[in-house]
Amino acid sequence: MERTLILFKPDVLQRGLLGEIITRFEKKGLKIVGLKMLRMGPAVAKEHYAHLAAKPFYPGLEHFMTHHPVVAMAVEGVEAVEVGRKLAGATNARKAEAGTIRGDFSNSTSRNVIHASDSLETAQKEVARFFRGEELFDYGMALHEYFYAEDELK
Ligand code: UDP
Ligand code: MG
Repeated sequence: MERTLILFKPDVLQRGLLGEIITRFEKKGLKIVGLKMLRMGPAVAKEHYAHLAAKPFYPGLEHFMTHHPVVAMAVEGVEAVEVGRKLAGATNARKAEAGTIRGDFSNSTSRNVIHASDSLETAQKEVARFFRGEELFDYGMALHEYFYAEDELK
């Protein structure tokens, strides 16, 4: 089972879309193993978006992400990292497929509602960036066998 990090960016809370977007992950069958509201500090923003530090839009991105609350969620599932990216859709929401979260809820590149980890290695770092060990939960779900067949869990 993989775990991946989803961030609900400030536009989600401001626009009242949190519940509706969390529902997408639940319905897909990804198990929520961590969930919390937080204010991202500049140091965490710089670490999280280190690959974009030299871009002209970086100061605006950091300001946006650090001046409003965000919600962090860790989800678990088979190939959860790839599934999370597929649910999210393309970075530029104008190019994101209809049916994806960005495709359905945004028309922007910088106000594109969610973050989703882009590789297993990144996901492991990002889950640890936002959650302490005791904030992550290992628990069984009664309907587990209706989400996956045995052979998929090997
Ligand atoms: N971003 C932006 N303008 C751009 C490109 C990216 O504001 O031209 C922001 C946007 O919020 C995006 C984030 O930087 O989600 C991270 O960019 P990345 O290329 O890693 O895309 P993602 O992994 O979020 O799809
Ligand atoms: Mg990225």
